[in-house]
Amino acid sequence: MERQLYSVRMRAAAGGPHEAGGRHISGAERLVAEADLEPTVAGLLRRAREHPLGKADFIRITVEPVDPGTLMLIPSLPVSSVTPPGGVEAARRLAERLLTEAGVAQAAAAAAVSVLANGAGPGGAAMRGAVVMDAAGGRRLEPDPARGVRVSRLDWAADGRRRLAEVLRAAGHAVDAAAAGRVADALAMASKVAWAGAAAEVGWSDDPDYTTGYVAAPPLGYVRIPGIKAAGDTRGGRVFFLPDHVDLNTFIHRLERHPVLVELSGAIIPAPAAR
Ligand code: AMP
Repeated sequence: MERQLYSVRMRAAAGGPHEAGGRHISGAERLVAEADLEPTVAGLLRRAREHPLGKADFIRITVEPVDPGTLMLIPSLPVSSVTPPGGVEAARRLAERLLTEAGVAQAAAAAAVSVLANGAGPGGAAMRGAVVMDAAGGRRLEPDPARGVRVSRLDWAADGRRRLAEVLRAAGHAVDAAAAGRVADALAMASKVAWAGAAAEVGWSDDPDYTTGYVAAPPLGYVRIPGIKAAGDTRGGRVFFLPDHVDLNTFIHRLERHPVLVELSGAIIPAPAAR
């Protein structure tokens, strides 16, 4: 695949840049052809300025060519959804159980859920990247615990984003275009994290209005878990579990630097209410 693509990355904060202590508001990643640069940059600028977490006073949008020779095409994980009866605590226990099914030690699964519940950054602040955790021991491994590891240089291949949005809406995973876009971004990221060698991951948004989280892993696919946090809670984040046989630096390099296009291939299983 020799087409020239550009990585477009956005990050926004309030109270100054992230590196000067600003509060993370929003971030997004795209990989687009030159002809799509202008609408992509405009769309990400709008997204940074209209975020429910507040008004950003620092917005950085970076545009960089990627090396077409290293571009990889990877498959998307299948999507499903489970809603345990019993509220937030039951949803979090379910997330832990799914993580152990994917090979994460029980203590590490519980540690990850507790890190996310308490705010993963220093002092409970939101991180702009993810926690990396040892899948066997539950130790945090990311070099910078304020920033975390940021998955970058990824997008949907061809018209995958549009086709996925249609399927997600038909299957009851998204009520409108904005919700479908959010799931599309999260699924592309989880597919790249699985490709990079993670045993599993768990996450939920720091957006106070968005209470659906997920567990993703190669044997499980991307499992959506509605009600994993209470509405109004601004704590959230992502934890990627590293198995023993994957080298940390290789893992981080793949996540941050290796350009990847995700092809829509995994099944989209209808959400329980839509069945
Ligand atoms: P979101 O799902 O966009 O609401 O993001 C929730 C949290 O996931 C953020 O606060 C970050 O901790 C983490 N996150 C978001 N985007 C990325 C990314 N590209 N790479 C790693 N972690 C991310």
